[in-house]
Amino acid sequence: MMMIKQPGTYADFNDPQALPRYTGIATFFRAPATDSVGDADIGIIGVPFDGGVTNRSGTRHGPRAVREQSSLLRRISSATGVRPFATARVRDLGDCWIEHPYELVGAHNEITAFYNQVVAGGVVPLSVGGDHSVTLPILRAVAAKAPVGMVHIDAHCDTGDDYMGSRFHHGAPFRRAVEEGLLDPKRVVQIGIRGTTNDPDLWGFSQRSGMRVLGMDEFDDKGWQYAAEEARRVVGSGPVYLSYDIDSLDPAEAPGTGTPEAGGITVLQALRLLRALRGIDFVGGDLVEVAPPFDTGTITAFNGASILFEILCLLAEAWERRRSSPVRPPFTP
Ligand code: MN
Ligand code: MN
Repeated sequence: MMMIKQPGTYADFNDPQALPRYTGIATFFRAPATDSVGDADIGIIGVPFDGGVTNRSGTRHGPRAVREQSSLLRRISSATGVRPFATARVRDLGDCWIEHPYELVGAHNEITAFYNQVVAGGVVPLSVGGDHSVTLPILRAVAAKAPVGMVHIDAHCDTGDDYMGSRFHHGAPFRRAVEEGLLDPKRVVQIGIRGTTNDPDLWGFSQRSGMRVLGMDEFDDKGWQYAAEEARRVVGSGPVYLSYDIDSLDPAEAPGTGTPEAGGITVLQALRLLRALRGIDFVGGDLVEVAPPFDTGTITAFNGASILFEILCLLAEAWERRRSSPVRPPFTP
């Protein structure tokens, strides 16, 4: 096949991550785009769906905004030295195409069908939402065979119940995931929880099911190191999913989200917390709730992309450990 444009002078530019960052079609981190799961070890996937929001919509525009801002990032973490693109075949698998976006349950089923193919292909999924309701159908694929643990960073526990006649919305995915046997609640930690509620028992399911809820005041008092230690203690050594809701950040650093809560995590604290989770056996992750219509100067999408890079580093290292471990076979959900 004839290529119409190849680097002539700078051979390094055959690597898309080495290209000038302002050039080319915007994929996640300038990774090669593919529709084939056979080309990828880690697949970054957009899920442009916001049919599960309880308030301000707009996260359907999240994947494009994060792709655009992620082009500002480079290949190597200067903090940890991790080189995710040299460790695993990281590919942009495009968007999870939802043909019936106005039928919530049907749309979720379409998402699960897409991720079943990703998981069957042995690809570790890293998703960009979309509202937080999409994590449930993703977990239905990732945790199909056995429940997983979870590090969940969010202003909200998202363990609510039915809301206005719907069992499925972005405030309930993790209650449903426990009910469906996808999450082991005793291996779930929720970090950054805060804000007002109308129901004093809104997040009571988290406590009753045995999740560790580390609220924002405790995080502020004890710091990101303590939160990371708690996360490690709670999730243990088994497979773990990482779900990052951008509204965990303070609205000053992440105004572009549908349900902001004052007094949140700084982006620096978030990056350091994530780096301190190295060694956990992460088998998938997501960044959700980036809502570009409410963003200011693309700061939310940019901070989201920066957090996404840290999650990618965690997934790449975990993938490498599973691949090279003679004792523990690769996690096959
Ligand atoms: Mn959430
Ligand atoms: Mn939230």
